[in-house]
Parts: sequence; C-alpha cells; structure tokens
Amino acid sequence: MSVPARRKSSSKTKKGRSHQALKKVNLSKCPKCGKAVEPHKACAFCGAYKGKETIKVKSKKQKKK
Ligand SMILES: [Zn+2]
Repeated sequence: MSVPARRKSSSKTKKGRSHQALKKVNLSKCPKCGKAVEPHKACAFCGAYKGKETIKVKSKKQKKK
C-alpha cells in the first residue's frame, strides 16, 4: 500500500471534516396518534402504517413483566 507523500495541513483536515456533520432526521406526523415518526416506517408509538395497525407495540408496562 502506498503512503501519502505529504502531511495534510490542518486547514485541509478541517475542510474535509466540514462534510462529516450528521444530517437531521426528517420527521412526519403519524395520522393515527399525531406523534412525530420517521417516514416509510411503522409508527413506534401505535404501530400504524398508512392508517392501519401493522405491528403490535409493547408499552413500557408490558416490557417489565
Ligand atoms: Zn402513531
């Protein structure tokens, strides 16, 4: 494997890292319960997708048992 011929300047390092920031997650509202959910995924709070219940969501009380 080859090795870089020159050390990167701190400016070049910082310019490269300026593109590494994380983007904000795009959120839409659940039509059933109105909470913020990720698009194209079943709602994590009520389990609905496109207005129908697709998965069963365990509440915090059920997880403890
Ligand atoms: Zn929901």
